[in-house]
Amino acid sequence: MKICLKSIAYTTFVALSTWLSTASAQPAANETVSALAAKERPALIETLKELVAIESGSTDLEGLEQMGALLVKRFTQLGARAELIDVNAEATRNSRTPEKLGRVLRATITGKGDKKILLLAHMDTVYRRGMLAGQPFKIDGDRAYGLGIADDRQGIAVILHAITMLHALNFRDYGTLTVLITADEEIGSPGSRHLLTKLGAEHDATLSFEGGGPPGNDNVSLATSGSANAIITVRGRAAHSGSAPHLGVNAVDELAHQILQNRDLSDPSIGLRANWTLASGGLVTNMIPPGAQATMNIRVLRMQDLGGVEAKLRERIKNKLLPLSVVEMNFERGRPPLEARPVSRALALHGQKIYAEIGKTLNVPDVPRGGGTDAAYAGLNTGAPVVEGFGLQGFGAHTTNAEYILIPSIKPRLYLAARMIMDIASGKAPLTPVK
Ligand SMILES: [Zn+2]
Repeated sequence: MKICLKSIAYTTFVALSTWLSTASAQPAANETVSALAAKERPALIETLKELVAIESGSTDLEGLEQMGALLVKRFTQLGARAELIDVNAEATRNSRTPEKLGRVLRATITGKGDKKILLLAHMDTVYRRGMLAGQPFKIDGDRAYGLGIADDRQGIAVILHAITMLHALNFRDYGTLTVLITADEEIGSPGSRHLLTKLGAEHDATLSFEGGGPPGNDNVSLATSGSANAIITVRGRAAHSGSAPHLGVNAVDELAHQILQNRDLSDPSIGLRANWTLASGGLVTNMIPPGAQATMNIRVLRMQDLGGVEAKLRERIKNKLLPLSVVEMNFERGRPPLEARPVSRALALHGQKIYAEIGKTLNVPDVPRGGGTDAAYAGLNTGAPVVEGFGLQGFGAHTTNAEYILIPSIKPRLYLAARMIMDIASGKAPLTPVK
């Protein structure tokens, strides 16, 4: 009897310690938050349907106003102070900037704590008016398709419904939740960049809601690439190509020389990519071309590398094939890179723990997987963490027929977003680098 009791006690001990070790390996999910995420899923799909139905390309002012009005209504319903801000006066313009930019949505919700959290998404798309007909909203199996649904309708939807969940929980431990939804992200944020940088510096953390990775790669990002375009213009002299070619200065010949002598500026070891992407020249077939132009697209991981490429190009274009040609360069800086910083990594790794609560694995790559985003401007002048990629998983951004989000990612991503905000607000998430 004695032995038997001992054995029962031992069995109980083993069971208890096994349970404890399992519990510590995978912390229990917050069941209330998890249930709310499941409940919000159909509502989020309805929101996506509504957002996809509005065409709002970066230059489609009417569509952007329509989208802005809808978002003001939705955020006001959530108790936010919502406004549309005109950023035209402060825009940094280049040759591709449209004359007038759409207004930016800012929604502010005040809580009872002191942490200030910035949530980012964008309402513009790369698509022209009329393209919705080729990519209407539709559900097919695990995927929801639609124009701009991954980039970045889903980001807006996740923010709206994560805040809805916080309200349902009566969670108000944050000081301020600021939502900024820009209208010029796809054209390099010429108007909203200053506001993004200012708000990034004023908040304790920035979570950006671009997509959370393609199928099979569930992630958030610590870094995004920076970009620039180097536009080389050659001026030559026109002449009849049949009767007096020797009187001309062939701008296309000179441009070809410039293109060839600047083909080697990429450096994969530091993530620097420099490629010629556009070229044109000449006027008609029987004239020695008096002008030609080519554009090099440059991507970097580090801010200083842009300056390096610019300096090299300025030096090299002095070496000409045709001494009488004039070669000029216009170096147009696009987005700065978002550089992976320890403080952002610490916050992202906290997100990884939150994701593990629901049995999911969140990847936190250091290197960018795609182009630049607004997170880079938010991170330009702050020591606070900035993490990109809190949106839904999906694929096919900037395509003409196949942009989609993964429906099974809705619940985990809502859970992640709501729990991140909760832990940052209540001081449980690190806002300084982990030693
Ligand atoms: Zn985007």
